[in-house]
Amino acid sequence: MSDQLSLLKQRLGELADLGHALALASWDQHTMMPPRGAEARAESLATLTRISHDMFVDDETGRLLADAAAELEGADPDSDDARLIALVRRRWEKERRVPTELASESARAASLGQEAWVRARAESDFGSFAPYLEHNFELARRYVDCHLGRSEFERPYDVLLDDFEPGMRAAEVTRLFAELRDELVGLIAELSDQGAVDDAPVHARFPVDGQRLLVREVVSMMGFDESGWRIDDTVHPFATRIGVGDVRITTRWDQDFFPMGLYGAMHECGHGLYEAGLPSSLRRLPTGAAESLGLHESQSRLWENMVGRSRAFCSVLAPRIAALAGGELASLDAEALYRAVNLVRPGFIRVEADEATYALHVILRFELEQELIDGSLSVADLPEAWNARFRDYLGLEVTDDADGVLQDVHWSAGLIGYFPTYALGNLIAGQLWERAGAELGDLERDIADGRLGPLREWLGERVHRHGAKFRTSELLERELGATITVRPFVEYLRGKLGDVYELDLSRAS
Ligand code: ZN
Repeated sequence: MSDQLSLLKQRLGELADLGHALALASWDQHTMMPPRGAEARAESLATLTRISHDMFVDDETGRLLADAAAELEGADPDSDDARLIALVRRRWEKERRVPTELASESARAASLGQEAWVRARAESDFGSFAPYLEHNFELARRYVDCHLGRSEFERPYDVLLDDFEPGMRAAEVTRLFAELRDELVGLIAELSDQGAVDDAPVHARFPVDGQRLLVREVVSMMGFDESGWRIDDTVHPFATRIGVGDVRITTRWDQDFFPMGLYGAMHECGHGLYEAGLPSSLRRLPTGAAESLGLHESQSRLWENMVGRSRAFCSVLAPRIAALAGGELASLDAEALYRAVNLVRPGFIRVEADEATYALHVILRFELEQELIDGSLSVADLPEAWNARFRDYLGLEVTDDADGVLQDVHWSAGLIGYFPTYALGNLIAGQLWERAGAELGDLERDIADGRLGPLREWLGERVHRHGAKFRTSELLERELGATITVRPFVEYLRGKLGDVYELDLSRAS
């Protein structure tokens, strides 16, 4: 390896180490830390963040980048090293344009905003939160202004979206979501005429100790390995990787609603498998990390919904639930479970939404945050705009802002441009699921037998092993020969819900 390139890698390796320390401190904050440690932890996290930001945007990083690029002149543009240089240069150029003052003000506003949001949501008081939200959107517009005139961004919102889904543009998301919205609204209307599916089994009592045993069994089937993983309790579940060989997932429990613990764990384990499958040959390099939130979410959603809520996997789950829960669930059968976990019912809360209504919650947020950024909607008018769109898309009348515009933490934390990645993840999962089904022949049989290794390995080969070498659209192009499309997800959903509701929903869409 050339000298300048190895110096650059050394610097990036140290930055990765700082990132791992940050991940560990943050994991601890959300799982183990006693409440009184919050203030000191916030200071540690802020200091580590500032040190790594300064180290990254430093002129020295730029010099090493330029020299390493010169050394690599003529190398294969798809080689690990050439891709590394391209990725780091993009990020370096974007981060350099943001003044330290704006970055630290954004971090401060995010922390104050979250505190204000917790209070406002508890009292369903949008008015007390509005000034914080106004400030966060103002900071986001200033962030956008740092990148004005760069030809790669067509619209202001593109600058924000690019932080979470590199290379994705609002125009493309708008096109995909318009198609998806029409499909889902139509599908939900077809289902709402039908007699309700019985979801009593998911509300039957299942003691948490038994749920823990079930979840251990399930994540072990998926690939959780005691020597390189942990699972712990938390309030808002997440997955993280502290470094190679150290994946941490979390879940939460409700004895009267076991899907929360079970499917929460399958979701996070899906994220964890992606992290565990990243190429160790690129360890401590940005290319050895996950590429985008949309791709990440495709992994979690595929495992949670396409595997976890399939008829095949319900046949694995049902006897174990019956044995571990006893009581009302002692005679649970696979068909009853399959129907109960696939009930479609529009509700107010995004994180509790079923597969058919989920994306509508996301599309609504995507539309509103673009309007807030381009100034066509004011923060003062946001609750009204939210409620009107909610009525249009989900047919429900929001009467309480806590169950409406105040339900998510994202905007309070300055995370603007993040929401679309959730629904993009569903679409990508649909594409991967369709292809896996075609290529893995006996996928359904494997799942019904609890043999999940072949699917995990297939995803490793198609997605995980690439790390962040390719952008999402390029990765899909290479592996599936397609960009992100709506059809496979909608067909999957129509197929499954037709089955659950005993309707013919299989029209070509
Ligand atoms: Zn997720």
